Amino acid sequence: MGLLSTGHPLSWKASQPYIREVKRKGIRQFIHVYRATRNREDDCLRWGDEVEYTVLHVDKSRHKISLSLRAPEILEELQKQEHLQPEGSSVEVLWRPEYANWMVEGTPGVPYRCFAGDLELVEQNMMLRRLEIFSVLEKNEIVLSITAFPLLGVGNFTTPVQPVLGRASLSLYVPDAAINPHPRFPTLTRNIRHRRGKKVDIRRPVYYDEKTDKEFPVLPQCLAHQNGCNEGTNNHHSSTPIGDSEIEEEDMIDLEQLAKESTPDIYMDCMAFGMGCCCLQVTLQAKDMDESRYLYDQLAVFAPIMLAMTAATPVIKGYLLDTDSRWDIICGAVDDRTSEEMLNGPKKSRYDSIDLFVSSRKEMIPERYNDVEALLDEESYHTLLENGVDDRLAKHIAHLFIRDPLVIYEETVHAQDEHSTEHFENIQSTNWNTVRLKPPSLELNAGWRTEFRPMEVQFTDFENAAFAVFTVLVSRVIIAFDLNFYIPISLVDRNMKAAQCRDAVQQQKFYFRRNVFADNSHIPDRFKCACGRTHKPRFSSSVQECCLSVCSSCSDCEPMTIDQIINGKSIDELHSDHNFAFPGLISLIRGYLDALELPPESALKIGNYLDFISAKAKGELLTTASWIRKFVHNHEAYRHDSVITELICYDLLKAIHDITTGKRIEHELLGNFYQGKGECNEVSAEMLQEMRTKVEKGPTLLASKD
Ligand code: ADP
Ligand code: MG
Ligand code: MG
Ligand code: MG
Ligand code: MG
Repeated sequence: MGLLSTGHPLSWKASQPYIREVKRKGIRQFIHVYRATRNREDDCLRWGDEVEYTVLHVDKSRHKISLSLRAPEILEELQKQEHLQPEGSSVEVLWRPEYANWMVEGTPGVPYRCFAGDLELVEQNMMLRRLEIFSVLEKNEIVLSITAFPLLGVGNFTTPVQPVLGRASLSLYVPDAAINPHPRFPTLTRNIRHRRGKKVDIRRPVYYDEKTDKEFPVLPQCLAHQNGCNEGTNNHHSSTPIGDSEIEEEDMIDLEQLAKESTPDIYMDCMAFGMGCCCLQVTLQAKDMDESRYLYDQLAVFAPIMLAMTAATPVIKGYLLDTDSRWDIICGAVDDRTSEEMLNGPKKSRYDSIDLFVSSRKEMIPERYNDVEALLDEESYHTLLENGVDDRLAKHIAHLFIRDPLVIYEETVHAQDEHSTEHFENIQSTNWNTVRLKPPSLELNAGWRTEFRPMEVQFTDFENAAFAVFTVLVSRVIIAFDLNFYIPISLVDRNMKAAQCRDAVQQQKFYFRRNVFADNSHIPDRFKCACGRTHKPRFSSSVQECCLSVCSSCSDCEPMTIDQIINGKSIDELHSDHNFAFPGLISLIRGYLDALELPPESALKIGNYLDFISAKAKGELLTTASWIRKFVHNHEAYRHDSVITELICYDLLKAIHDITTGKRIEHELLGNFYQGKGECNEVSAEMLQEMRTKVEKGPTLLASKD
């Protein structure tokens, strides 16, 4: 989330007359940016990660850990340094608000650059973030990078305890006091509900263990909670939207209706169940618009692979799930479609995988792969075309603009400012997809960027750094070797589903392109660096064989395991009728890095990240989700009934805390790749600044094919 606009948000009802106007202005604003920047070229690689953290309150005597709702205060403390900073200088870490009052988001203070050495700054910067948060916590608080709090929505799960059935969410489980008080967030919550016409209804399958209630019920879950906690409906939020004074009885939950729809699912009823989950994102600046659009497409195909690799959500709302990831929980949590639209409208929630590839590279025929129906906002589409935006980009933007603006501010709705991007961002930033194409921003001094959004956050800085660095390196080989990952979007959708299955890394196959070399007949033999030098990648003989084995008449893609996609496979592993080899992305990355001739220490450190990723893909290490499952199953208080008790939750989070701080070594999760923090515990802003200056002399990562 960039900077938050402020003002008085309109209720859904009061927004109605302005919806079209906001869309028209948003399109005008995009056209303005597009005209000014479509020919912008030769931007350098810049990139950054975003990590979302959870603040928890520990009650040692009662063996209870709950979510601390102090994030707004904590954020204020954390941002002090940034606010005190003289104009023109920068801090090492930027802190930003997130949806829930238990979340804060940290990013590097300045984006990383094209130097290979910057890859080594990531983990250090993440450590500094933890130190910074740690320094502003209260005595009984801890901070973790976990995707979902296991007891989210169960009983009194916040500190302080707050009443449920608040007016923004009407949730039976999550108090509105857990929603960030900035007017954007309660208004999003309420307006999604009002647009939809009823509360969001999230159902995810429970994991059936030996003693799980065979008729795992929706209704008793609701009733039990409602009977226990509906004393307080007088939870007034400071930011009641304009025009929303009416009592909202109309969409109070209908328990009888729910009973009829009863399914063996875990039922969740508000935005916080999804937007209260934490993730790891990476944004990459491309050299120009075309490169950014190409990366968008390639990374969209790669998203499910990384979702599976980082899966970390086997537990929510006090139950073991039958799935491992947060993704579909959030899709449901912000799904603002009406019942009529569910049948005839957009096929997906505004939070989901993409529907359209956007690259204009003709030789790859991206439109061949756009095989799912994607509605367009016709008016936006025609305006974009009339103003010189090419068809594919116009479709991309017009598809984003099928969604309504959810938060309109009274103060800015009439502003005619083409130089602002507020209205465009209003729509853009509430299309929460696996990837996002970010147009240049004067304010941020940034060029065309592609954001990679599927990953779940991991426990340690080491893991988060490894996944962020790996993402950057994947993007580098895509560009350096002009890789082609295109498969039909329908298969990307199918991969997204597979990615969320239990232990997807080991149990599922993913459609992937058999031949990722855009130039069918040739193995890439050179690429060019930002410094202008030409490099020769060094590939193993097996990679070379792969290229030779590809037969062009074969189908484009094939179900593969994640191990095969990441680590490669040789020809003899396969049935003769599907005979092809696949190089594996890691070998391509190694070939690329070898050519850059990194200093030995850097090569070692980055090599260690790659070895870690490779071991994850092989299944030699557990995913975070599998590790959590195993922990629960082995806990002496677990009764094999899918239920996570307060004690199990306490011990689980305590174990995670010990892993994060290096006190507990978990070989099944981390192997020998990470052995606690050691001397790096001492990281400081000064150290980071020094490192940054040092690496400027080293090799650069930016690469383009000769
Ligand atoms: P959002 O939440 O909208 O994705 P944030 O500001 O939270 O935006 O995060 C933006 C990310 O992009 C950060 O990791 C930041 O370091 C990175 N970033 C900032 N400027 C650039 C740039 N010019 N190119 C690429 N990445 C950038
Ligand atoms: Mg965020
Ligand atoms: Mg952000
Ligand atoms: Mg964001
Ligand atoms: Mg982001």
